[in-house]
Amino acid sequence: MKEISVPAEMTACVWRGGTRVEVETIPVPEINEGELLVQVEACGLCPTDIKKIDMGLTKPPVILGHEMVGKVVAAGPNAEKFLGKRVVVYHHVPCRSCRLCELGRYSQCEGYKKTGTSAGFSPAGGGWAEYVNVASWIASGGGVVEIPELLPAKIAILMEPLNTCLKCMSALPESKGTLVVLGQGPVGLMLTALTSRDGWKVFAVEPLPERQEKSLTFGAQGVFHPKEDLAGRLQDVAAPLGYDAVIAATESEEAINGSFLFLRPGGTMILFAHTRLGQELKIDAGQIGMAEKQIVGSYSSSIELNSLTREILLDNRFPWGEFVTHVFPLNEINSALALARRPQGGSLKVAVAPNPEALKDA
Ligand SMILES: [Zn+2]
Ligand SMILES: [Zn+2]
Repeated sequence: MKEISVPAEMTACVWRGGTRVEVETIPVPEINEGELLVQVEACGLCPTDIKKIDMGLTKPPVILGHEMVGKVVAAGPNAEKFLGKRVVVYHHVPCRSCRLCELGRYSQCEGYKKTGTSAGFSPAGGGWAEYVNVASWIASGGGVVEIPELLPAKIAILMEPLNTCLKCMSALPESKGTLVVLGQGPVGLMLTALTSRDGWKVFAVEPLPERQEKSLTFGAQGVFHPKEDLAGRLQDVAAPLGYDAVIAATESEEAINGSFLFLRPGGTMILFAHTRLGQELKIDAGQIGMAEKQIVGSYSSSIELNSLTREILLDNRFPWGEFVTHVFPLNEINSALALARRPQGGSLKVAVAPNPEALKDA
């Protein structure tokens, strides 16, 4: 095994149940053949991680966090080529040999559902810690993406959410027309920035004034408050046929139904925020059966989009530097979670880092 000096112990944010996360000193993960040890520079807080905590969707104890960037400081036999590289790590990779992978449904592959990055306990991401073990099948399966030394960590951690946005966009109708994006959180704003530059005429729905403002600077032609006569406002921009597509980057049933009504016949609605099973949504089935509207889902990322994602992340025509507004040290994880749960004062993406002062500004 080759390595750059690594301590025996580290700080990690361990979720042991409840809504708080404990800051603990635990052993640095060991690595075996084909595995990597990554020293984390920063890791984003993803809404799916917060849902796991708040709704108890996973079994504690776990160390969450999967939007991570760092340096490979140790590499097991047969993985030495990664040593010293600055990388973004995906926590899932598909097997590429099952029927679902053959169909391009990578995020539905049984192998993909296994998490391959861990800072301890059962693998759950591990990015909210100083060091992470990367499984051999992630390293050899295309889950480790090298990035330039100069790319700010605050931008690099957007790689996985950006991939999920690009994947979502591949479900849009081919002919670019009008699009409504429901919700302008970090991911909704990312979709606004991407789709407007891709030729879509984008309208957004968002209650927070700071996010409404961002939405307009990121390319939206108009932005509406969900409570202020949404139906009327949407009907105005939908005329005469209705808009071509809706992306629901929110779980709001009201916004989803309000916008579904003004989708053009045969138009597409993509559910992007319904990330757990058992969630019900009441929908006018006649809009599907008669008006031939389609509802599709898009979940997680696609390995086929890894290189495009990297390319777009490095493209400075996009406002990637504006997405991560707050980086907390690991020992302030609960403040970071609180801000991510209740955005304030223009906060967008929240991240944690072992040493926030060391991060280059984005
Ligand atoms: Zn995520
Ligand atoms: Zn597969």
